[in-house]
Amino acid sequence: MNSTFETRLADVRRRIQAACERVGRRPEDVRILAVSKTCAPDCIREAAAAGLMDFGESRVQEARQKIPLCPDALTWHLIGHLQTNKVKDAVNLFHSIQAVDSLKLLLAIEAAAEAAGRAMPVFLEVNVSGESSKFGLAPGVVPDILKAANALRRVEIRGVLTIPPLAEDPERARPFFRALREHRDRWRQETGFELRELSMGMSHDFEIAVEEGATWIRPGAVLFGKRH
Ligand SMILES: *Cc1c(COP(=O)(O)O)cnc(C)c1O
Repeated sequence: MNSTFETRLADVRRRIQAACERVGRRPEDVRILAVSKTCAPDCIREAAAAGLMDFGESRVQEARQKIPLCPDALTWHLIGHLQTNKVKDAVNLFHSIQAVDSLKLLLAIEAAAEAAGRAMPVFLEVNVSGESSKFGLAPGVVPDILKAANALRRVEIRGVLTIPPLAEDPERARPFFRALREHRDRWRQETGFELRELSMGMSHDFEIAVEEGATWIRPGAVLFGKRH
C-alpha cells in the first residue's frame, strides 16, 4: 500500500521536474497541494508519511470531520466554493482559502478572521474561460477586488487559482493557464499586489500548468487513485 503511494508520488515529482527542465524553472518552486477530498484519514496519513504536508479539501463539512482524525502537523487548504454561512468554520479549520470568488466572501472572511484574531491567506479564483457553469471571478473585476482588499487587515491575498474547462487533451488547458499568468502579471503592475502564487493544474494537466508557471499544483486522483 505504502509503496504504491510512494511510487505515485515519485512519479508526479519526476514529471514536475521534467516539466521544469523543459522551461527552465526550479522544481522547488512548484508545490504539491494533495487534493484529498473523499480520501479517508488513513490515506492522508500514508501521504503524510511519504512527505506531503499540504492537503486540499473541497467541502467544509467533510474537512470538519476529517481533519481532527489526521496528523496534527498538516496544512489544510480549502479549494472548493465557500458559502458565507460556513466562513467561520472555514477560518477555524483551514490554513488558506484558495477559492475566493466574490467581494462579499472576502469581506466575510475578513470579519471571521478578525473575530478569530488571526491572519488568513487567500487566493482569488478566476474564471478565465468565462464558462457560465464555473465559479470564479471574471478577470475584469479582479482589480476592483484588489483595490477593496487594500483596506482589509486580516486577509492576505497570496495569489490566484483557476480551473480550465474540462478537456481530454491537456494541451487544451494551456491557453487558460497562460492567460491567468498574464492577467496576474498585469494585476501586479496595476495594483501593487505581488500575487506570487499561481494555483493551477490537476491530475491530467499539471505538467502543462508547471510549464506555464504554476507555483501550486492540485493533483488528486493521480496520487490517491480514482474517487468513487
Ligand atoms: C477535485 C479537485 C482537484 C483534483 O482533481 P484531480 O483530477 O483528482 O487531480 C483539483 N482542484 C480542485 C479545485 C478540485 O475540486
